[in-house]
Amino acid sequence: MSADGVTGYGECVADSDPYYLPETNHTVLHILRDFLVPLAFGLEIAHPRELLAAFARVRGHEMAKAALEMAVWELHARRENAPLYRVLGGRGGQIATGVSIGLQPTTAALLERVEEEVAAGYRRVKIKIKPGHDRDLVAAVRARFADLPLMVDANSAYRLADAGLFREMDRYSLTMIEQPLAWDDMVDHAALQRQLRTPVCLDESIHSAEDARRALALDACRVINIKAGRVGGFAGSLAVHDVCRAASVPVWCGGMLESGIGRLANVHLQTLPGFTLPGDTSASARYFEEDLVEPPVVVSPSGTIDVPEGPGIGREIVWPRVEKATTFREEWRP
Ligand code: MG
Repeated sequence: MSADGVTGYGECVADSDPYYLPETNHTVLHILRDFLVPLAFGLEIAHPRELLAAFARVRGHEMAKAALEMAVWELHARRENAPLYRVLGGRGGQIATGVSIGLQPTTAALLERVEEEVAAGYRRVKIKIKPGHDRDLVAAVRARFADLPLMVDANSAYRLADAGLFREMDRYSLTMIEQPLAWDDMVDHAALQRQLRTPVCLDESIHSAEDARRALALDACRVINIKAGRVGGFAGSLAVHDVCRAASVPVWCGGMLESGIGRLANVHLQTLPGFTLPGDTSASARYFEEDLVEPPVVVSPSGTIDVPEGPGIGREIVWPRVEKATTFREEWRP
């Protein structure tokens, strides 16, 4: 997004498929081109925090809104010559980080991956589970790493009838169980949370501060994973953060396999005071041979990431790499 000779950057977190949430790259392009961009060109706003509310007429499509909204925040920060965290209300320094490990072919392979990530410094480990690959994995990791902050993410693979499985997992002192039940549910999650000591964390079910308020009112979760792309951008993230903070409910920042542009947006967001748990922001090198930004995001041996001090996300974008990765280009002008 360019204005007055300054350019701000945003990254959309939609995928090519609708397997995490309904949006895809194609739906995002459609909603941006045909609705949000024309709407934005007609707006007079004093601050990027006003943008999400101005988009309210478009229902849903949080990832499309976030793609545009976060670029405006980044542009705003660059125009103020300020790091993004400062315009978001966060602080400089470092963030503590964790890592997410996908399903592995064998339990031995999983233990090896956990070993590597713990050695690399990550402060907490999240493992993915699905029916048939759950309790035994947790038991094996816990047996080897007695004190490791450990959590599981089920990405909606279970039903309330599986509550017994999660009750058994209470014994493993997990920091939380993320999104065990349906992607659009809160009621069953509340019924599950009532049966557990382990906190339930919602990811897919939370698209706004209103969703967060409802989820907490129902006691459907005791932790919320904030992904800016899932809640319409930074204003949505700040609003969810504030709802949770007022209720003393911790939040943390999830990841969507972003390049350095979106990855650094996550780093800045996590400097807000309610982000009291390590997030899923790991090193660029874990996913990319070369990132779109230089220097890339690196994790220290003690599991921290430095928050950049430069304007905006605080890193330069390496345009030849962006060009190399470009498959489609479209430009909109007022
Ligand atoms: Mg998740």
